[in-house]
Amino acid sequence: MNENAYRKTWIINNKNRLNLVLKDKLLFKWSIMLSITNLNKTYPNGVKALKNLSLEIPKGIFGLLGPNGAGKSTLMRSLADLQNADSGTITLKPENLIPTEMDFKKQLGYLPQDFGLYPSSTAKEFLHYLASLKGYTKKENRELHINELLLITNLLDHQNKKLEEFSGGMKQRFGLAQALIGWPNLLILDEPTTGLDPEERNRIHTILHQISSKTCVILSTHIINDVQNLCPLFGIINNGKLLTVISPEDAIKQLDNKIWIKNIQNKEKEGYIKKYQVLSNTLHFGSLYIRVYSDTPLNSEDFKSSQPQLEDFYFSYIKKYLF
Ligand code: ADP
Repeated sequence: MNENAYRKTWIINNKNRLNLVLKDKLLFKWSIMLSITNLNKTYPNGVKALKNLSLEIPKGIFGLLGPNGAGKSTLMRSLADLQNADSGTITLKPENLIPTEMDFKKQLGYLPQDFGLYPSSTAKEFLHYLASLKGYTKKENRELHINELLLITNLLDHQNKKLEEFSGGMKQRFGLAQALIGWPNLLILDEPTTGLDPEERNRIHTILHQISSKTCVILSTHIINDVQNLCPLFGIINNGKLLTVISPEDAIKQLDNKIWIKNIQNKEKEGYIKKYQVLSNTLHFGSLYIRVYSDTPLNSEDFKSSQPQLEDFYFSYIKKYLF
């Protein structure tokens, strides 16, 4: 590999520190932008997982959607510095500031799908351990910082509980707390709410919303509703390529008057799939409905017009009905 072919830089103004106000809210001063240019990754088995992928991400929560095998984890691992791409650049920079280079790893927090815990340590003990690894050598500073992290993730009351006693939601919040050590400028989250009940999902959403005013958050998820609720902007990736970047509102607007719905019998499904651009089929009170993409009205064929959903937009792209 050409050493210069793959370059990663963090450009941060070193005068900028977090402007943190703790009153249920975090207020931050400056915005960050992540710039990914012409990123390529081919695995030794010949699979091209990323194909010339370029993407600009402003501060805030950016949703990343794509089917299994699309290249999401490859992108996340490259961003998290866990593997190198073959070529391309990744740059993190604040807007409107004079840049200076800083240590790459110190600027990122990563919550993988599965992260290792020491089950018999308490939340607080384990955060102390991880924070000292991340450079918080002075106990006093570490203690203060850990209290901030426990507060924002609603874990103060559970700080002395063993991690093995944590529920799934508490574990995910702990995962967020460890990813937030050092208040990273880039936070990479791989499916943070999968398997959580609605209450815990809301808790995580609230935390992410709070930190997003300062941080560039990349949220990879299968839960399209999470993108709709949380992300001002999202991208769809498939076969290593970025298909589109758009806001949920604009995505839904693009499908105005183009989504049609019909109640059908299960045995008719294949026929409809052959004849129409079927996006999905859903059960509603035990009846089967298909959702179809069509530029022209389908009333005459007994379809009803339906309010577009973000999921319709996603399937329209993945099934190549929209370009
Ligand atoms: P996603 O996270 O969207 O499911 P991945 O980034 O895991 O997608 O995978 C993208 C493609 O790269 C897939 O075809 C996958 O099989 C392949 N791939 C991922 N990791 C490896 C690896 N370590 N070695 C070989 N192929 C891989």
